Amino acid sequence: MTLPMPIMVMYLGVVMEAGSSYAIFANPSHPYTRALLSAVLDIDVEGQRERILLKGDTPSPMDPPPGCRFWQRCPSAMRGCATVRAPLVEVEPGHRVACHLVSGFSPQQMAAGWDEPVSPSAGG
Ligand code: SF4
Repeated sequence: MTLPMPIMVMYLGVVMEAGSSYAIFANPSHPYTRALLSAVLDIDVEGQRERILLKGDTPSPMDPPPGCRFWQRCPSAMRGCATVRAPLVEVEPGHRVACHLVSGFSPQQMAAGWDEPVSPSAGG
């Protein structure tokens, strides 16, 4: 029997997702975690592995992007992602994710179009 290990997925010095190895391998919830796991594991047990290829280069940690640090490469990025960093919220006991796909936007932010998609690498 293998015991679960605590895992913390970080991008440019910020925690994107944290939880037990069981939770993260079974239910990777952050787009960066999904891209990482798609490169090394078959996470789709129902079908073929789909490799997620990220566009662009990793920004300099000396000059990280505003908002979500992953937004310039995220295939799910929205306008608000470039402005405000998502809080780290619990999606199941002990499994936390920092992504606006999970935490959402306020009605005022949505009225301002923060949930509109933007292209990866749009910010550089
Ligand atoms: S907060 Fe936005 S840019 Fe960051 S990972 Fe989530 S969807 Fe992508």
